[in-house]
Amino acid sequence: MRASAYPLVAAEEAAALVLDRTPVLPSERVHLIDAAGRVLAADLHAPAALPAHPASAVDGYAVRAADGGKTLRVLGESAAGRPFDGSIQPGTAARLLTGGVVPDGADTVVMVEEVVEAGETVTVPADLRPGVNFHRPGADVKRGELVLKAGSELGAAELGLAAALGWAELEVHRRPRIALMSTGDELVEVGTEPRRGQITDSNRWALLAALREAGAEVELLGIAPDEAAPLRSLVESALERADVLVTSGGVSVGTHDLVKPLLESLGTVHVGRVKLKPGKPFTFATLSHGRLAFGLPGFPVSSLVTFEVFVRPALRKMQGQTQLQRPTLPVRLAYDAQASGDRTEYQRVTLHREGKELVAEATGSQSSSRLMSLVGAHALVRVPSGGQGFKAGTVLEALILSLP
Ligand code: AMP
Ligand code: MG
Repeated sequence: MRASAYPLVAAEEAAALVLDRTPVLPSERVHLIDAAGRVLAADLHAPAALPAHPASAVDGYAVRAADGGKTLRVLGESAAGRPFDGSIQPGTAARLLTGGVVPDGADTVVMVEEVVEAGETVTVPADLRPGVNFHRPGADVKRGELVLKAGSELGAAELGLAAALGWAELEVHRRPRIALMSTGDELVEVGTEPRRGQITDSNRWALLAALREAGAEVELLGIAPDEAAPLRSLVESALERADVLVTSGGVSVGTHDLVKPLLESLGTVHVGRVKLKPGKPFTFATLSHGRLAFGLPGFPVSSLVTFEVFVRPALRKMQGQTQLQRPTLPVRLAYDAQASGDRTEYQRVTLHREGKELVAEATGSQSSSRLMSLVGAHALVRVPSGGQGFKAGTVLEALILSLP
């Protein structure tokens, strides 16, 4: 095997280095229709109270609590969207429907089930409590209150709240634009019968899904051959539009591995090899104008594991997220785990619960070509390098992909 010019960097060190050089993208205003999953760029304070008016929680009557036990004259009706504009004086009431504004002068609401209605009068129970059966102005949100913090991801509740407060557009971080390319003379388009020695380009589709799940907009560049000139022109034209270049293949030390020299010529390669299994040839470079390039290894599992460890956190940082890593949890091994040599190994496991614990079962052969080791996997167990390995029963940290 030929030697590589690149030093072997610890996986944690490489991950920190990538994040250090990853910019947070500027913000843009987007309508709520496009805002789900985006990250707020600035704190938001409520411009008004919610509810804005005292709003009835029930069908009933707006009255003065001091009128308990009396027969009151009904002045009118306040329904949702159709308020009664008069005010409640001693001896009077207004009919209320749920959501209706409680008129001025009333200090409580009595439920329709508790009154006796007769023509234009209503008899209310004795001992009425003031201040019940309606929502006070500002009970949900006070005017000026900090409701959404910069860095919050906009989900259903956040978007509902924004709409309730009258914001049709929000200032959010831009999504990163990614140019995604597969490299290799052996690759054919999915659906085309591979001839002897050829394989179907599967990384493109795996990485497209992973990139989109991480919030990126993706331009597909297809397959580049293992030839310097076409590879370069494809990359150069894509970089006019992209924030990030993601390639797979072409980063090991064979003579056909052209991605590293290309990135060297376009910018600065900061990581060329990592103490990580799978994913040793992972490559990271910075290019002009704050753009990034990730050269992921070709083996399908290597490309997805290095995506998880290096690319996904960077994309989250670009979008203004503050929690960059997937959650990690301690899991108890149901098998003997051994990392290879001096490399941290991310082993693919399924999880099941035993009492309060999560127990990890390996997904079979951990070969870096075997996508079946990731299919249905719940987690990547981080197996530290060195020593005698870890016997079944040992507790290790795992990167959680989904919980059983
Ligand atoms: P490389 O890093 O280019 O040496 O690629 C290593 C191996 O990964 C190749 O021999 C292929 O078996 C596999 N490979 C590379 N690119 C892809 C791809 N786009 N889809 C599926 N497998 C790939
Ligand atoms: Mg190749």
